Amino acid sequence: MLTQSFHRLTFPAPICWLALGLGLAISTIGAASRSEAAEIERRPFGKTRDGAPVDEYILRSGSQEVRILTLGATLRAWTAPDKSGKMADVLLGFDDVAGYESADNQYFGCTVGRVCNRIGGARFDLEGKHYQLINNDGPNQLHGGNGRALCRVIWQAAEQASIPDIAAVKFSYTSPAGEEGYPGELKASVTYALAADGKLTLTYSAITDAATPVNLTNHAYFNLAGAGAPTILDHELKLMADQYTPVDSTLIPTGELAAVAGTALDFNAATAIGAWIDQVSGPPTIGYDHNYALRATDGKVRQVAVVRHPGTGRVLEVHTDQPGLQFYSGNFLKDQPGKGGKTYAHRSAFCLEAQHFPNSVNEPRFPSIILRPGETYTQTTIYWLK
Ligand code: BGC
Repeated sequence: MLTQSFHRLTFPAPICWLALGLGLAISTIGAASRSEAAEIERRPFGKTRDGAPVDEYILRSGSQEVRILTLGATLRAWTAPDKSGKMADVLLGFDDVAGYESADNQYFGCTVGRVCNRIGGARFDLEGKHYQLINNDGPNQLHGGNGRALCRVIWQAAEQASIPDIAAVKFSYTSPAGEEGYPGELKASVTYALAADGKLTLTYSAITDAATPVNLTNHAYFNLAGAGAPTILDHELKLMADQYTPVDSTLIPTGELAAVAGTALDFNAATAIGAWIDQVSGPPTIGYDHNYALRATDGKVRQVAVVRHPGTGRVLEVHTDQPGLQFYSGNFLKDQPGKGGKTYAHRSAFCLEAQHFPNSVNEPRFPSIILRPGETYTQTTIYWLK
């Protein structure tokens, strides 16, 4: 059911560039032929239980389509062809807002923050002050807290003028000082830009008026055979990292870096996710749920992972400028209902979450996640579906 605002305007490239220069938002970016045009459509998606309207933005470019909600700046769907041209949605999610507000929502596709992953003891000290946060994962905080974590709030969307064949929308949110217990008013944004070649670029930015920890990521759950396919254990993963951060019994890093060589964590050569998963299926993890320390980068985006599904030939590349990558094998999925009547089984999706290391706010040996007034946090991650 369409369509609140569906623009099919086309502009010659010079006008696009002019619009870009003037900061104007236009909805469809001109391209030579109709099939190559990038389009952005906005649809009302429903209301939260508090009555707040949620919109969905549909970005189309070439044969690619992604859908993003203003609720949590959530990547809800990604439809793309496989090697034989067969289309499928490769992301787990829900058909309605109630699904996203339900206990079944394990951060599906959302923008996670203010601090993603775990904070040990749900507390930290900063500039002489002690901050106690909500613990929502045993003694720890996971993924930014509860009701006002960034994945649960409504972001403001703005369609972006861009170059031909790229559809882009920027989602912004201002988190007041004290929200979920964090200091400083944080102005955060994430821009999703979809190109016709299947490259989805996520560009994050944030500023603050007082020192605060910031660590943002996206929590997309992929199954390259199509969301609802029973497993990802047959997907082959290549993950370019020599080290990971070992954890204690509550999944808080010990502060050391350990070598992956000779362990079930070594994916430097492409290997089926299921090949050795049993070796990491005892406490503290029940499958892959590990932060990899990626090879050093001087702030540049580099390729860090490639996943291939042999059956469909679909390939997902991950590129990022971040130091860490959390590889999670969907261990807590529990035969739960998802989009279009599908069921999401245990280990039927994987996440590759680019970020700083878990518990960085309490671990001086890890790269800092403290953002101070006058500084700008930036993060770029590319998911490239081929
Ligand atoms: C964490 C898992 C957690 C999952 C929740 C992942 O980022 O590493 O431990 O269960 O998010 O969906």
